[in-house]
Amino acid sequence: MVSRKEFIKKTAAATLAGGLGLELLKAQNENLIIKNPNSTNALPLIISTWRNLPANEAGMKVLMEKEGKALDAVEACAKVPEADPEETTVGYGGAPDRDGHVTLDACIMDHHGNAGSVSFLEHIMHPTSVARRVMEKTPHVMLCGEGALQFALSEGFQKMNLLTEKSKKAWEEWKINSKYEPVINIERHDTIGMLAIDQSVNIAGACSTSGMAYKMHGRVGDSPVLGAGMYVDNEVGGACATGLGEFVLKTLGSYLIVELMRQGKTPQQACEEAIGRIAKRYDYKTFQVGYLAINMKGEHGAYSVQKGFSYTLFQDGQNNIHEADYYNKT
Ligand code: ASP
Repeated sequence: MVSRKEFIKKTAAATLAGGLGLELLKAQNENLIIKNPNSTNALPLIISTWRNLPANEAGMKVLMEKEGKALDAVEACAKVPEADPEETTVGYGGAPDRDGHVTLDACIMDHHGNAGSVSFLEHIMHPTSVARRVMEKTPHVMLCGEGALQFALSEGFQKMNLLTEKSKKAWEEWKINSKYEPVINIERHDTIGMLAIDQSVNIAGACSTSGMAYKMHGRVGDSPVLGAGMYVDNEVGGACATGLGEFVLKTLGSYLIVELMRQGKTPQQACEEAIGRIAKRYDYKTFQVGYLAINMKGEHGAYSVQKGFSYTLFQDGQNNIHEADYYNKT
């Protein structure tokens, strides 16, 4: 557990040395919740894209353990939808590419700036955990395809068929017309991106997806690309993305948001500017991108191109789904 002195030192940059009078309050179960009385933003917190109450619960359980780490929390959070066969956009049960292969992308990053990622990974239920092993056990950041699979198997991950009957049936129906059109907010994308800050005021983030349903074989989206699908910096905060990854990749949205916060923007302002950059350069009316951001004060922001982006925030004992504000009001 970080001491009060250390905590204040660590967050001095983020709080602009504004004398926020931070106080540590005892939480019910003897873990410490750190309160910022000026903004009532409690720590620890976990936030994730879309509707993820059980996933956030798994993450918060870790965060409320003695010395629970944000890195372990985001991994635990990602594992919930990754293992859920009903969740057709992440892990097991994820929609396949147009050739019937379920290929997964994921990344993870810790408060030291360590990062790992996998892309185009087949047959492994928990790509976020493989990404973590890449981070912890290899000299590399990203492993891809067959190499990522070989590495996962060498680490003891089990090979399995990720294509469920339900996803296979939907894919066979799609093949009748083979029309590729990412439908805004509907089933074609739903990456889980998540960010957490633990009791020691350390941040971590992760992102996990089966990518766009019926994508071209070999397509990799934004989710495994650090700075696009997710990025964290312990001096500033973090951001993660969901939606049509091509536009997140072209604007490096998560890195942009973190840098905008570094320059003094709130998480909400930073998300809005990052979405604004997309809207300014591209014909934004036909696709969705959504961003989440948090800063080290425990403030959060969320914004999307279109209506309908939801997110789940677990903070100060409350795990709630929220609707994000959005750009396209026409
Ligand atoms: N961003 C993901 C991708 O493009 C899709 C999603 O958010 O669901 O692969």
